[in-house]
Amino acid sequence: MRLLLVEDDPMIGESVRRGLKCEGFTVDWVEQAESAESALRSVNYDLLLLDLGLPRKSGLSLLRELRCGGSGIPVLVLTARDSVADRVLGLDTGADDYLVKPFDLDELGARVRALLRRQTGRVLPEISHGDLRLIPATHEAVFQDRELTLSAREFTLLAALLEKPGAVLSRSRLEERLYGWGEEVESNAVEVHVHNLRKKLGTAFIRTVRGVGYMVPRKP
Ligand code: CA
Repeated sequence: MRLLLVEDDPMIGESVRRGLKCEGFTVDWVEQAESAESALRSVNYDLLLLDLGLPRKSGLSLLRELRCGGSGIPVLVLTARDSVADRVLGLDTGADDYLVKPFDLDELGARVRALLRRQTGRVLPEISHGDLRLIPATHEAVFQDRELTLSAREFTLLAALLEKPGAVLSRSRLEERLYGWGEEVESNAVEVHVHNLRKKLGTAFIRTVRGVGYMVPRKP
């Protein structure tokens, strides 16, 4: 899952970026609303983490414009403004959730997972498909009743394909999910992860759709 963080405080920005990266998310971090706008135009993010007090243009204006422009991206507002009126205004402007600073990184991770779960229409905190169970909160994977060791990127790739079994995801869409700015992407990175996953799950688990991308069949 790839997230965009908009936060002008360097200490908070760095700790949120690092904390969410440890939880397996790909995080791009910008410090201004204007940079967020251009990032949102070039990458399909799964979620936006938005500070409200930003230099020049506020987070609230950015949020308002996004919603007026029809964007449905899940937005989690991070702010020091803790008055009830501010919280109400943030939510009514189109935020999906709200966290008041200082916040706990574990709680942030849990809220992010909850929003992403809702976005994909899942109710259960686990993703299961046939004999496979993925638990995003702990990054555990169980296959045929045995614990399965997956790298962070293998886990993310598999979770992305399992969001909508039967749907094909292109290599570039998967790369976008797995790698943030400044992270070197080897030209065959996705193929290598798929190859490793097939070794662990059997060759038929992930199908290659020639010239299009990869998918997990609807019926396991
Ligand atoms: Ca700020």
